[in-house]
Amino acid sequence: MGAQILDPPAAGVPTSGVPAAGPPAPAVLTEAGLLAVWEAGRGTDSARRALVLAAAGGADPSVVADLPVGACRGLVLALRERCFGPLLPCAVTCPCCHQELELELTAEDVRAGAPDGDRRLRVEGFEIEFRLITGRDLLTVGAGTPDARRALLGRVLTSAVARGRQVAPEDLPDAVLDALSGALSAQDPQADVRLDLDCVVCGHAWVSPFDITAHLWAELDSYARRLVHDVHVLASAYGWSEDEVLAIGPARRQSYLELVTG
Ligand SMILES: [Zn+2]
Repeated sequence: MGAQILDPPAAGVPTSGVPAAGPPAPAVLTEAGLLAVWEAGRGTDSARRALVLAAAGGADPSVVADLPVGACRGLVLALRERCFGPLLPCAVTCPCCHQELELELTAEDVRAGAPDGDRRLRVEGFEIEFRLITGRDLLTVGAGTPDARRALLGRVLTSAVARGRQVAPEDLPDAVLDALSGALSAQDPQADVRLDLDCVVCGHAWVSPFDITAHLWAELDSYARRLVHDVHVLASAYGWSEDEVLAIGPARRQSYLELVTG
């Protein structure tokens, strides 16, 4: 991913995290649909949330879990584009001078190629065959456990042979696992998007991961929380149900909110 031009932010931009500003109303999900997706993704981890978002874009929920992670994130990126357009404003903090910076990404900047390459490796006398990591692998292994990385790599190994004998995943040396991890990132680039960034203030250059699931989730979370607040205010004032409040268009809803809140 190419170098980016960064600018100091306008006042009020979040200091970290992903979206730099609140998104406009989504054009694909209805507001009721958005709240349903938000409800399904709340309180879950990133792996499950990615599947929720991929399915929200129209993919078969029973299929997305078995797609390579990059394919799933590609679906999330496509949903993000359809909901909020191709611009992905972000805020980042320079790790050197700690300046808060705005980053104007486009969907093309974070769209990687399709999985590619030979799913075989020869390293340290081992002959390795593997498949790509899927969302189901991430769900099964979980994150944050000491052996998560080895367990995940063990799941995608289909064969490991040394001196003519099969070797169990737990017996593979770290160098082999490192090579396998590198091959997985290289062969499924949409699963591991990294951005080359340059700070316009101090000139520091660094590489930062970009997570489309976290980015879109932060936008949906912000939108849904505003929506819930608006429903609460209008339901309390007029006795309307959630469905009735959501049936009112955003412009008229805003007018009612202004009447209620003065
Ligand atoms: Zn800097």
